[in-house]
Amino acid sequence: MNGIFDLSGTTAIVTGASTGLGQGMSIGLAEAGANLVLVDHVASTETDRAIQAMGRKTLPLVADLSNLSSITMIMERTLAEFGQVDILVNNAGIIRRTPAIDFSEKDWDDVLALNTKTVFFFSQAVARDMMKRKRGKIINVASLLSFQGGILVPSYAASKGAVAQITKALANEWAKSGININAIAPGYMATNNTKALREDPVRSAAILDRIPAGRWGLPDDLKGVAVFLASRAADYVNGHVLVVDGGWMAR
Ligand code: NAD
Repeated sequence: MNGIFDLSGTTAIVTGASTGLGQGMSIGLAEAGANLVLVDHVASTETDRAIQAMGRKTLPLVADLSNLSSITMIMERTLAEFGQVDILVNNAGIIRRTPAIDFSEKDWDDVLALNTKTVFFFSQAVARDMMKRKRGKIINVASLLSFQGGILVPSYAASKGAVAQITKALANEWAKSGININAIAPGYMATNNTKALREDPVRSAAILDRIPAGRWGLPDDLKGVAVFLASRAADYVNGHVLVVDGGWMAR
C-alpha cells in the first residue's frame, strides 16, 4: 500500500471550508499531504490555522460561490499560487426548510444555484486545467436526498439528486481524460446544516433510531473517504456516489 493514499505536493480546493464537513475534509486532505485552497463566503480562519500547524501551504479565499464570477477569481488565484489544481471538493451547500405548498421561488433558486449550478461550472473550470495533465480528482458532496425525497426540503432534494447525476454525466465524458469525478453522500451529520433537526426532539429521535451505527456522523467521518477518492487508490473509480451514513440506507 506504500504511498497509494499519499497526497504530498498536491493542491486541493475545498469549498465551504470554514466549518462542518468541508473543514473536516480539508484537514483530512492536509493530513494526507495536500496543500489547501480554502474557499468560503466567511473566513476559514480555524481550518487555516489547523492546516498551517501541520506545515502545509494554504490559500484562504473569501468568495460567494452563488456568483459564478467567483470561480474565475479562485482559479486565477490558485494557479498563480500553486500552478495547478489536482483535487476539487465541491462541498459548499445550503438548505431551506419550508412545506412545499408555501415554498418560495427564492428558496428554490438560491439552493439550486449554489448546490447544483456552481458544482457543474466549478468542475468545468478545474477540468480545463486537469485535462492538460490528463489527471485530476473531483469530489462532489451529494446527500441521502440524492436518493430519498426528504421532508420539507424540496429544492435541496432536487439539488442533491442533480449532484448525483452531474457526477455520473461528467464521469462519462472525463474518465478518458484521466479525471475521476465521484461523490460522497453523507448521512445525518452533526453540523450547522442539521441544527434545526437536532433541535427538534421528535425528528432528532426518529433519525437517531434509524441509524444502525447509533450516532450522528461527524466531520471526521469523511476524512478517510475524501482522501481515498482524492488519491491514486481511486484511479479506477468513476461516477460513483459513495454513501457514508452509519448504515441509514441499509435499513
Ligand atoms: P454547513 O452549513 O456547516 O457548511 C456549509 C458550508 O458552505 C459553510 O462553510 C458555509 O459558510 C459555506 N457556504 C454556504 N453558502 C456559501 C456561499 N454562497 N459561498 C461560499 N460558501 C458558502 O453544513 P455541512 O453539513 O458541513 O454541509 C457541507 C455539505 O454537505 C453541503 O453540501 C451539504 O448539503 C452536505 N450534506 C450535509 C449533510 C449533513 O447531515 N450535515 C448531509 C448530507 C450532505
